[in-house]
Amino acid sequence: MGTRWSAVFFSADPDPRLQVALRAAVDAVDATMSTWKADSDLMRLNRMPRGIWLEVAPQLCAVVALGLQIGQASRGAFDIGVGAAVEAWGFGASDPQSDNLPIARAVSPLTTANAVEVDLPGSRLRRHGDVSIDLSGIAKGHGVDCLAEVLIAQGIADFIVSIDGEVRGCGTKPDGSGWLVGLERPDREHRQLARTLAVSDVAIATSGDYRHFRTVGGKIVSHTIDPRTGAPLDGHVCAVTVTAEHCAVADAWATALMVLGEHEGPVLAEQLGLDALFTLRRNGILHEIGIGAFAQAPNDQHREN
Ligand code: ADP
Ligand code: MG
Repeated sequence: MGTRWSAVFFSADPDPRLQVALRAAVDAVDATMSTWKADSDLMRLNRMPRGIWLEVAPQLCAVVALGLQIGQASRGAFDIGVGAAVEAWGFGASDPQSDNLPIARAVSPLTTANAVEVDLPGSRLRRHGDVSIDLSGIAKGHGVDCLAEVLIAQGIADFIVSIDGEVRGCGTKPDGSGWLVGLERPDREHRQLARTLAVSDVAIATSGDYRHFRTVGGKIVSHTIDPRTGAPLDGHVCAVTVTAEHCAVADAWATALMVLGEHEGPVLAEQLGLDALFTLRRNGILHEIGIGAFAQAPNDQHREN
């Protein structure tokens, strides 16, 4: 997935084979879910003729099922069927199709659930429609959960693991203090700390418009697609951070709430009992909306730059 992973943990007698096992866990996610590897299980699925089952790794079935479930719960805002739009807008592995924008979607968002069939017990998948599956909004979070499982299986209870900006912390440091995670200011030019959060037995994921973006027709567009239009988001929300028990869930909801935007996002997050921090950028001023565990967070306002 073209990014870095890390695992930090305390253990009196660490087994050197742990590093091998951790690497194998992220490699397995990459080999099954990457859209950048033509031979990943996911890309093979995307090339399969309609109606034909493809046997895949059980974890791919599980992530597709979770993606579809969060797709329904987010009213189609999280849509693993955005693959063609991601490619067309230049955020995929192929060259952008600049004269083809915005692309007309082959399927409407809520039909992705009908276009992909998951057979969990049989560990197979098939497509019924011409939908291109993209798991980049959830796979990194899932990879973080896989890293956590490797450590938990070895009896390690105090660790922090991450892939890119998706993080999961368990237990504490040896001195009993919590793991600290920094949240960046949503700024395209500078890297600056906005706040720190102590994470213990929780996963945290952030989606934003300030790291992965391009200029198309003189306008800056970022990599989150609104499945209702097939085009990149055009709202005021510039970042959403979500905490949850599992990082795959936090990752997918961070993307979903970005799409739902400043009005619908906080309302749905509140209804579903999610813990989410929305950052809005309006006329260069940043505003925050905190839901659930983030409701107590100071609602500071600051001018950008
Ligand atoms: P990051 O990769 O920075 O952690 P996200 O978790 O938000 O960010 O994932 C963004 C990626 O998810 C995009 O690059 C794209 O591949 C995919 N994606 C874009 N829009 C959606 C969407 N509405 N639903 C699901 N996945 C999406
Ligand atoms: Mg995500």
